[in-house]
Amino acid sequence: MNSFSIQNFGCRVNQAESFEWAEGFQRRGLRLEQDSGLGDLVIVNTCTLTGRADRDARKFIRKVLRENPRARVVVAGCLAERNPREFDMIPGVWKVIPNSEKASLPERLFPQAEAATGIDIRSFRSRALLKVQDGCSGACTFCIIPKVRGKSASLPKVEALSRIERFESQGFKEIVLTGIHLCSYGHDLTPRSSLLELLGEVERMSGEFKVRLSSLDPRWLPRPLLEHLATSSKICPHFHLSLQHGSERILEAMGRTSTISEYREIMAYLCGRSPSASLGADIIVGFPDETDEDFRATEDFLDGSPLSYFHVFSYSPRPGTVASGWKPVDEKTKKGRASCLRKISKRKNTAFRRSFRSEVLDGIVIQKDDHGAEVLTANYIDVRVPLCAAGEGEAVKVKIRKVTDRETNGEIIPPLPL
Ligand code: SF4
Repeated sequence: MNSFSIQNFGCRVNQAESFEWAEGFQRRGLRLEQDSGLGDLVIVNTCTLTGRADRDARKFIRKVLRENPRARVVVAGCLAERNPREFDMIPGVWKVIPNSEKASLPERLFPQAEAATGIDIRSFRSRALLKVQDGCSGACTFCIIPKVRGKSASLPKVEALSRIERFESQGFKEIVLTGIHLCSYGHDLTPRSSLLELLGEVERMSGEFKVRLSSLDPRWLPRPLLEHLATSSKICPHFHLSLQHGSERILEAMGRTSTISEYREIMAYLCGRSPSASLGADIIVGFPDETDEDFRATEDFLDGSPLSYFHVFSYSPRPGTVASGWKPVDEKTKKGRASCLRKISKRKNTAFRRSFRSEVLDGIVIQKDDHGAEVLTANYIDVRVPLCAAGEGEAVKVKIRKVTDRETNGEIIPPLPL
């Protein structure tokens, strides 16, 4: 086997796992194909959070088997964990990897190969991703995650800090810390630790790098942690909150013990202390028994919030979860509600990006092509620039010039000499 590719579905935790595997396979002498589905070995890291995620993964696997029949296909991830037999029976699928065997996948697949050192992993990712926590000890009634990923388990703090240090020494200017339930980081460790403690140590590290955090649970954001997030010099002012709904009745049915006024307080605090911050959220529409009134409450809450975007998921029952047997909302209503919220998100996002017109923001170069580059600002604005001398992954300053519904254009500051 000479080459490999990885197709990732789902959350940032999956992305972090794929990132680690890509490094491991390259250390074992395999060449990374940029297009997923190509190569002698194709890894599919699946997700099963929604019915749509299941469908997307299945569709991709069928496509690979059709278009690249000589490839060895490995199916990993939460769908493979939930339903391994489905893939075991497909001719052409080489291996099905349960979540318990995800760690060290390259070593498991190639136990004889020796891992080389000195591979430049910056050549395949402009940002480093690090999974510091996995699983969840929560019990939200809609969620399959605790079943497929198990209870919360954290990477020991010393290990997490040493990996961050290694990424920094490799030249990464942004490190994304991910976790299924990042806020519970450290609670399972002995001695017990916390996300605040980990971030406090990261703050004291030397080196010019930024840390971006994956999704945060608003029920797990005590004031000292919020204060740290809003004032840190290392953490990107971009906070993605798993709010899920804007109706207290539905939040209760979801098994989430939060109130809308707590949500408002958290968002007001973050925006007040970190005015350039981008706040995002995950929202579920069409949860069982969601009435027009519940939906309107969500719509009003989101519209009046300082959120700059939200990811809208249409609820789909996950087998074995508490809510899966509850009275469903019909598909047409769900679709209409999802589309309505997505429109609000788009409008709010345009307004957020416009508010930075003529401003200079910190960012890193995510991707370069013949026509320029894409810069991701610390506060999560994707800016298209026409000229860029900096390489992928490098830190730059970018001035926002033009904002439309679809994109943001800018230029690198200082401008290149003519
Ligand atoms: S806290 Fe998040 S991951 Fe855990 S059960 Fe609830 S929704 Fe799922």
